[in-house]
Order: sequence, then C-alpha cells, then structure tokens
Amino acid sequence: MKKFMLALAFTLSFIPYAFASIESAPTSKLKFAASNLGFADRIATQHLQVLPGNISGFSSKPQELANMQEAFRIVEAVINSDEFKQKVINFVNKSGSRSYTNNKGLTNEQVYEAIMAGNEIIGGANTPGQMNFDVSRYVKSWSKVIGYTSPGKSNTIFVNGKFYSGFQPSEISSNVTHEWLHLCGFVHSSASDHDSVPYAVGYIMKDLAAKLLKQGFLN
Ligand SMILES: [Zn+2]
Repeated sequence: MKKFMLALAFTLSFIPYAFASIESAPTSKLKFAASNLGFADRIATQHLQVLPGNISGFSSKPQELANMQEAFRIVEAVINSDEFKQKVINFVNKSGSRSYTNNKGLTNEQVYEAIMAGNEIIGGANTPGQMNFDVSRYVKSWSKVIGYTSPGKSNTIFVNGKFYSGFQPSEISSNVTHEWLHLCGFVHSSASDHDSVPYAVGYIMKDLAAKLLKQGFLN
C-alpha cells in the first residue's frame, strides 16, 4: 500500500498544472502598497467580460451548477472593480517588492493589463476583453487535485467535484480565476508559490468575492 501511494504521488506531480490550488491551505496574508501612492491611478481601467463556453458534467448537480454560475457573476463584478485593479497593481510579495513571481517579465501594471485583455494562449488574441473558457466536472475521490488545465492544448478547466461540491461561490470564483490564469500562460513553480500570478490573484479574487457577498458592492 505504501509503495502504491508513493507511485501515486509521483504520478500526480507530473500532471501539468495539476497541483492547482489546495484550498484547504491557509490563504497567505496579502500585502499591498498604499493606494494613495497612485500606482494604479496611472493605468487606464479596462473591462473584462466573463464568457464561459461549454459547461459539462453538472447534469445531476444542479446546485453545484448554480453555484458555478453565481461564481461567474462574482468574477465579472470583482475583476471590473476598482478594488481589484488597486490590489493587483499594488500587490507586494513576501520579499517586500511590488511584483509577482513567475510574472513573465511583466510589472504589476502589465499583469493587470494582461488579465483584462483576456489573452488566453488559445484564441485570446481574437477575443480581446473576454474571459473565455470551458468547464468540465469530474470526480476523483482519492485525489488532492482541485482542478487542472492543459494550457495551450485546450481552454477547458477541469474541476474535481470532490472539492467543488463543498465550495462556496467565493471559493469557486478564486479557483476558476486561478485556473483561467494558467490558460493565459501564467504559471507557478509549486503549490507554495503564493506570490505567483495564479495564486496571488486567486487570493485577491477570493477576498474580494467574500467582501462583495458580505456588503453587496465593491468600490
Ligand atoms: Zn495552478
């Protein structure tokens, strides 16, 4: 049994981008430069439309599908808020500098613009300002993987019903954002690369989604 588990762990670690976000891990405490320093104010506010395509695997899970659709509305509201723009641009990593790890050489300002351009590796250039993706639900009860993607091969976000069945819409918003950022070519070096674009922006999404749901609006 021990050998089997080791083999399993080995296999899992080689599935591209399958490490995804383990939502049970504590959300890292996010730090930001003060908004009155004005970094975000120098960048034009963009608009991103959330346009999910084919959503499959939910036929016997209407509540999960409803939560997913609620999450899409949340993502669109959060991503177009000034608070999201401020946090993405003002994000400070754990070394104290205003930048992301694995940032493809982009400044925080350029990361914001890349997100809002909706530039998926596949087809993104033809659909500017749109967040395009498909979702396919599967269940693997022995797996720790919440979701995974194959960037450049498809725009499908595969989500594990084992976790999604218990997720609140704010958690789905965060995970979908994390996975979609992979479809846009942003990576992380491990599941503890909390300062990477998929993780950090996923955390920003989660916090702002919770705030939106609590108070009903964002600035
Ligand atoms: Zn990931």
